[in-house]
Formats: sequence, structure tokens, C-alpha cells
Amino acid sequence: MCKTKKEDTARRKKVCEYIKRYQKKFKLGNYRYTIRFVSGEKWIGYYAQVSISGNRVRLWINEDLMKLDPNETENTVVHELLHVVLYKITKKSTDIITQYVRKEKVRNKLERKVEDLEHDIIDRLTPAFTSDGKKRYQSKNKHKGES
Ligand SMILES: [Zn+2]
Repeated sequence: MCKTKKEDTARRKKVCEYIKRYQKKFKLGNYRYTIRFVSGEKWIGYYAQVSISGNRVRLWINEDLMKLDPNETENTVVHELLHVVLYKITKKSTDIITQYVRKEKVRNKLERKVEDLEHDIIDRLTPAFTSDGKKRYQSKNKHKGES
């Protein structure tokens, strides 16, 4: 779980609040979570990273980007937790590819395809859950109606 200490920044607390909210919403309570706040050159360009293995989820959150773009906090948490939601189907797909595709080049290509498809689904679903995304979606729809 996401634990915060008294001295943690409001930003960290916000991240943990979102994590708790979406763990509940997506029914992901059966995973064990490790959450790390990171920063620095190594993380430039990345909001976060997630690694899932069995029932263990490790989540790295880039505090630098969160500072630059606080509105992305909720989107980032939802994005990463949707990786957890889709983990089993993605894992099964890549396991099948690993088992049955002998040619490394083809295997890599198919694995990249699965990854792209996963992100395509995540990019479609994220705005349906986040308040920022819903706002954007509504304004887009309004636009369509007006034209
Ligand atoms: Zn991703």
C-alpha cells in the first residue's frame, strides 16, 4: 500500500490518494505494492514506470514531472494501474509468443505489437476515468455538436 509520512509533500500524498482510489475502483487490492518516488536525469521524459511479477507491483513515480505538470498526476496513476488491470492478458499473450515463435526477430516484433496494443487500450480508457480526461472528452464532444 501507499504509505505517507507526516513530512511527505502534498504532491506525494495526492499520488497516494489516487493510487488508493483506483486500486479500489479497479479491484486491485490483491496485489502487493511497492511505491517509490524518484527524480533526476535518469527519469527525464518519464512520468512513471510499473513492473508487475506475480502479485507484486512495483511503481516508480517521477516527482520532477509531477512538479512540472500536476494535472498529469491522476492520469499517470490511472495509466500505470491499467497496466496492472491488463497484466494477465498481456502476460498470457507474450508467454504464448515466447513458447511458439522460434524466430527471435518475429518474436520481438509480436511482443512489441502486444505492448502497443496494451498502450492503445490504456490511452483510450484513461480519460474515461480521470476528471481531467472527462473534461477534455466533454469539451471535445461539445465542439463536435456545435459544428
Ligand atoms: Zn505505459
